[in-house]
Amino acid sequence: MTSYQIVEWGAPLAANHYETPEPTGTEVLLRVTCCGVCHSDLHIRAGYFDMGHGQQRRLEKIGVELPLTLGHEPAGEVAAVGPDAAGVAVGDRRVCWPWVGCRSCAACLREEDILCERGRYLGARVDGGYSDYMLVPHPRYLLPYDGVEEAVAATYACAGITSYAALKRAVGGLTRDDTLLLVGAGGLGASGLRIVPAMTEATVVVADTDPAKRALAERLGAAQTIDNGDPGAAARLRERTGGVAASVDFVGMPQTTLFAIDTLRRGCTHVVVGLYGGALDIPMPNLIYKLLSLRGSHVGTPQDLAELIELRRAGRIEPPPITERPLGEVNDVLTELTDGKIEGRVVLRP
Ligand SMILES: [Zn+2]
Ligand SMILES: [Zn+2]
Repeated sequence: MTSYQIVEWGAPLAANHYETPEPTGTEVLLRVTCCGVCHSDLHIRAGYFDMGHGQQRRLEKIGVELPLTLGHEPAGEVAAVGPDAAGVAVGDRRVCWPWVGCRSCAACLREEDILCERGRYLGARVDGGYSDYMLVPHPRYLLPYDGVEEAVAATYACAGITSYAALKRAVGGLTRDDTLLLVGAGGLGASGLRIVPAMTEATVVVADTDPAKRALAERLGAAQTIDNGDPGAAARLRERTGGVAASVDFVGMPQTTLFAIDTLRRGCTHVVVGLYGGALDIPMPNLIYKLLSLRGSHVGTPQDLAELIELRRAGRIEPPPITERPLGEVNDVLTELTDGKIEGRVVLRP
């Protein structure tokens, strides 16, 4: 098999050839037929997250070893099963939920992998889906997606559930008279825009500094778009709406979150889910006077993935814009992603 791997932090991925592995225990060998590209691939390839104030969280310090096969939105066909892998059979089509935990702590034993402190995320901490084949540790991380387009199901494994879980944390209690602000219409924001009509009747406003991304947001159903680079935009939105009820930051920069908080009314919620990085400096009285609930959201659960697939199967949500490219073009795609040239999501096919 050919796997596209980080062999040196920050360098282009290398194509390395290996024997196709054999699953043992509860493992399942998936023949990858497509794998979505995510903005976090850039952070993982760089080897660190920007914690602000010149601090970095380096992946090698948390035990990530090279070479590492990237790719955490895989879907494909079960090619082989280990002797203890129950519930899947060779030939089954499955999408892989990649946010696997250590599988031994209390959270993991409760099957709440996303609360695990020592995640072994497929394609981010251990080998993932930019490959012909990948090993999945247990069948419970593999979900059926019949009735849903394969490439769409793949993007749900990260972008879909990440935006869905973040929106769940924001929209509770919103009514049709409320305004919901989504900051960022990149891959994650575009996915969120497709999902949000199934979740709330609130009016959706999208902020992005890029006119092309604002145009995309309008095509995807935003009631209004604004330029968060415009210094008067937050005050105008607050005045016109009486204050935004909830906001989700799909970018995750200090500037984007401060912009969103500036638009909010009293009794509001702000959710940060984009992983751009940096450090936040908020006037503390704002937390109090706005009665602000400030929340973080990271990926989503297998249940979220199952719910999204069901929403798509029932025709209640539209897929995000998806472009398909050969897996061999992965380095070009990552460069285009760095340059902000990707619209919606890219799915790679081996
Ligand atoms: Zn991702
Ligand atoms: Zn664990």
